[in-house]
Amino acid sequence: MITHVIDGEARKASDGRTFETVDPWRQAPWEEVALATRADVEAAVAAARRAFDNGPWPRMGAAERGRILHRLAELIESHIEELAEADTSDMGKPLADMRHKDVPRAAQNFRFFADHARLSTADVYPMDSPHHAYTRYEPVGVVAAIAPWNFPLMLETWKVAPPLAWGNTVVLKPAEDTPASASLLASLALEAGLPPGVLNVVHGFGPDSAGQWLTEHTGVDRITFTGESATGRAIARAAAANLTPVSFELGGKGANLVFADADLDKAVGWSLKAIFTNAGQVCLAGSRLYVARPVYDDFVGRFTEAASAMRCGDPRDAATEIGPLASKTHYDKVTGYLDGIGSDGSRILCGGAADDGTWVVRPTVVVDAPEDSRLCREEIFGPVVTVTPFDSEDEAVALANDTPYGLNAMLFTENVRRAHRVAARLRAGTVWVNCFFVRDLRAPFGGVGDSGIGREGGDFSREFCTEPKAVVMEL
Ligand code: NAD
Repeated sequence: MITHVIDGEARKASDGRTFETVDPWRQAPWEEVALATRADVEAAVAAARRAFDNGPWPRMGAAERGRILHRLAELIESHIEELAEADTSDMGKPLADMRHKDVPRAAQNFRFFADHARLSTADVYPMDSPHHAYTRYEPVGVVAAIAPWNFPLMLETWKVAPPLAWGNTVVLKPAEDTPASASLLASLALEAGLPPGVLNVVHGFGPDSAGQWLTEHTGVDRITFTGESATGRAIARAAAANLTPVSFELGGKGANLVFADADLDKAVGWSLKAIFTNAGQVCLAGSRLYVARPVYDDFVGRFTEAASAMRCGDPRDAATEIGPLASKTHYDKVTGYLDGIGSDGSRILCGGAADDGTWVVRPTVVVDAPEDSRLCREEIFGPVVTVTPFDSEDEAVALANDTPYGLNAMLFTENVRRAHRVAARLRAGTVWVNCFFVRDLRAPFGGVGDSGIGREGGDFSREFCTEPKAVVMEL
């Protein structure tokens, strides 16, 4: 059974209830999961509070905390197979991606934030009067972290590493579809030396369940959430009642602009990664491709050929690039978008549901979709891309910005002036030029509009995870 981890102990639900987690490739439940009661959530928040108010974690220096978090990173690496298998069983991600990308990045999240907290400087304000002011960054208390299912371990570590590095305690609620790696992470954290109560995990659902109870809790000092924009709105309402500060990383509908002067080979390669990585279940997915008309036919031909050649199927097969979608519900949602294609003039050039009894959707390229169609407006969260030609830089920017989302955008050009000019005009939290998904964890990460509130990464995480205090001294 996958248990909660509360106050350093693996615990079943207080009333013994469970739910099942389903392996989407085998289409069968593979494990029972403790289903949190309200009392379990209370116990987790109380344990985190005790560990913060009375325990050593907030009181030890960043260097000592950093040593423990580095040990945790090493343990993550030495348990790579277990962690990889946990997420693949829960949501069907190719095992090779877990081994080579998600697990290494999970370890890197702890190493980075441990070092960042240890090496951070604080501001000093020389004053004209015989006074001197300086800033202290103090931990805030109990942080609730609520995570989605698309990169379970990787995003959970991204949510919990910064508050831990800055001396807070955490209650993590993973997504109900992907509970396994979070409990493993919490037990590795104990083994690394995190004191009991510093990192707690509770399992359950959102509304009328662990997610809602946690975000409504008056004992929570910060909420960091990654998930859908609609869920963000619900959590914002819950947080407002207690004036709890939030950090939200929400949905996206990333535009990907390919200019006529782009290196087309590279643009094709990166654009495939941008939409088909993790079967398109990526907030940053480049799901709207806009291509300059002079190179449109050439680009679409090469892109479609490469998309058709991608290997779909068993996520445990080393050659598989695209596994099943994460659940039957999600498969039905994504294929629901495909059902409407054709009625509005749009055409599928390749892909569609695999139609072999699996929950696989093959890389799907759609052209001639009207800009006001659901395909072009809504976050599909699957391996489906619309490709549309443009005639000018102004038109490309206008198309890219015509969305309520604003998480990220990509642009491909060999003209450095155009690169900077267009990057400045795109309304998005991140713009990638001639690349995709390349991250420096010091840089701000987050979205504008419906894509989020606040930024995470480096100093931006410090602002959220601490209460900056001004100390003014007479000299
Ligand atoms: P979701 O919003 O359905 O669920 C996310 C988490 O919120 C789950 O743990 C869920 O149980 C919980 N939850 C749901 N309702 C809640 C409520 N009322 N109160 C408290 N908690 C609640 O999202 P998902 O389907 O798991 O993930 C996919 C979404 O996440 C997509 O929209 C994607 O773009 C977004 N996402 C964003 C980023 C980013 O960095 N911006 C990264 C990954 C995923």
